[in-house]
Parts: sequence; C-alpha cells; structure tokens
Amino acid sequence: MVENIASRLPIAWRNMLFRCRLCGEKCCGLTPELSEEDVKKIRRAKPSFNPHYTPEGRMILVGEKGLCPFLRDGLCSIHDYKPLLCRLYPFYPVEKKVLEHFLSLPEDVEVVKHGSKEYVFLFDEQCPGVGEGDPVDFRKLLEVFLVSESPPCSF
Ligand code: SF4
Repeated sequence: MVENIASRLPIAWRNMLFRCRLCGEKCCGLTPELSEEDVKKIRRAKPSFNPHYTPEGRMILVGEKGLCPFLRDGLCSIHDYKPLLCRLYPFYPVEKKVLEHFLSLPEDVEVVKHGSKEYVFLFDEQCPGVGEGDPVDFRKLLEVFLVSESPPCSF
C-alpha cells in the first residue's frame, strides 16, 4: 500500500515551507480513504454519514463531481471532525526503513525520530500551499498521525 503512494509522491526535505491557502483546490477533491475511527468521528458531526465503498471494499469520502461532500463555500464544514488524511494533507508520514526498501532517500530528507523509529514524509506537490509560509512542524504532524489507531494510507 505504501508503495502506491510512494511511487506518486515526492519526499519532504528539511526546512520545507507550507502555508494552507484555504483554497480547497486539491485537498477537497482527493476522495481520501477512511478508517473506522474516521467514520466514527465524522458521525459525531454528521450522524447520518455513510462512507462510499470502493469495489475492493475500502471506505472513501466522496461527494458529487468527486468533491468532498462537506465542502461549503470553499471551506471544510466538519473541520474539528475531519479524517486523518485531511488533517495531514499535503503530507503523509512513512517509516523511513519501510521507504528505504524500495527508494533511495535524498540527502536533505526531513527525518523525525519517535522512540526507536524514524519517519519521513511524502507530500503532494499539487497543493499550492507547498513552498509558501513557514517551515513545517513535522514533529507535530507525526504526533497527529501516531495517535490514530489504524491510519489509512491512500489519497
Ligand atoms: S493550500 Fe493545499 S491544503 Fe490548503 S486548502 Fe489549498 S489544496 Fe488544501
């Protein structure tokens, strides 16, 4: 599964900049995969919510015309309840040693340690906020990722 996104997304480097433009241009058209935990959380805001199932049985978030069903006037209407992949976007942490199985990492790659593990971050270069604003707090992003019990890995 990680191979799928690693083949599509580049790897974040040290001191990389990012600032969300609140444009909804890319993140809100991604049809992210959902975990059971994500579905439960969304239902706290939208009790009647049901995920869409792919032919392979994966749960995804998708609305009309491929856009997120919770997009209102260009903004997320379930901000405090949004799925993990939306919270991490445009980044996605991957354990470094997993990625090293099939990729050679660049010298300036950002690496965050957590206990005995090391993580690097894939990112979506289509997001217009990449390269703008302030250095990304990758440690904080990793904390968001690690509190999830069963993170999905497809966007
Ligand atoms: S800048 Fe990126 S993360 Fe922010 S709303 Fe636009 S596409 Fe989404």
